[in-house]
Amino acid sequence: MEDDLYDLLGVSRTASLAEIKKAYRELARKFHPDANPNDATAEQKFKDVAMAYEILSDDEKRRQYDQFGTVGSAGSPFQGAGGISDIFEAFFGGQSPFGSSGFRTQDRNSGDDVEIALNITLEQVVNGGEVEFTLKLALECETCTGSGSHNSESELCSRCDGHGQLQQVRQSILGQIMSTIACPSCQGFGTLIMNPCDSCEGTGLEKAEKTFSIEVPKGVDTGITQRLSGMGPAGPRGGTRGDIHVRYVVEQHSRFSRNGENLVEQLWIPVTYAALGAEIEYETFDGMQKLKIPAGSRTGDKFRYSGLGVPRLQRRGRGDLIVEILIDTPQNLSEVSKRLMIELAEELGETIAEKPKRGRKSKKNE
Ligand SMILES: [Zn+2]
Ligand SMILES: [Zn+2]
Repeated sequence: MEDDLYDLLGVSRTASLAEIKKAYRELARKFHPDANPNDATAEQKFKDVAMAYEILSDDEKRRQYDQFGTVGSAGSPFQGAGGISDIFEAFFGGQSPFGSSGFRTQDRNSGDDVEIALNITLEQVVNGGEVEFTLKLALECETCTGSGSHNSESELCSRCDGHGQLQQVRQSILGQIMSTIACPSCQGFGTLIMNPCDSCEGTGLEKAEKTFSIEVPKGVDTGITQRLSGMGPAGPRGGTRGDIHVRYVVEQHSRFSRNGENLVEQLWIPVTYAALGAEIEYETFDGMQKLKIPAGSRTGDKFRYSGLGVPRLQRRGRGDLIVEILIDTPQNLSEVSKRLMIELAEELGETIAEKPKRGRKSKKNE
């Protein structure tokens, strides 16, 4: 399956609903299972274009897809896309060929789901942006385009008569128990490949490295999983692709920590700023800002930048950026600084440690 839904339908990203509908109608006819019997590739294509149509014909889903690159059935991009039966019925009037009739059950024919942990920075959480990751996964064999067959000839499985399933009867203390199992001869496909593809030995799969690029959803947090529907490993013999579950892990930032939708920094400032007031350049994820520290500020005082915090996931608005100040004590004073501090202490009537005592102490250390 191609990753881009617009490419699948062969339309531009600005295509109108009418253009999308027209493209889908043509492709659905072309790849319809009735017109392509026993052609797994066509069947997959048919499903893919139906899925693309389902999303792109719906304003809300299309908007989500444009934004997140994936769409959820319940309006959330963090769930998978819905089924295709409904739109099939809408277009062709009648039951979907993939409904309940088939021996090719979803499970048997679809690829596995995979989960990955994806590290992102706090800045990406705030500003969004693209992030890439590479996975080694089973993809459609290029030689046979996933069919598993050398020349696309297949034969009905005689063991299961093409049903893909066998009834099994077993004796138990409760009497006979009948169960249905996948046919071991054809692995549930109902057909046997006559000339297996040399490259993939009939599986239709080959391992390959693939690089994915996704847009980080603004406001996402560690532990939130985004489902990339149908982008995972391919299924055997042209089956549908599984999903990739991307679990986000937000790396610790050197300055900011996150508290819900707020960003918080504990900022050390010199004692002179605190006593006399200052206006400093303050770097945020939104560029440089002015930070005004009033005279007489104390440790623990907070300054708030409204709306410069973490964006709300899938909602409008952002939290705040809160700067909490800590007052730094000057160390390694020069003689001049020391004299000024002593003067200051005297002026304020504060009793400080006596000088001779300090002198002895430092001598001892030498
Ligand atoms: Zn192959
Ligand atoms: Zn069989």
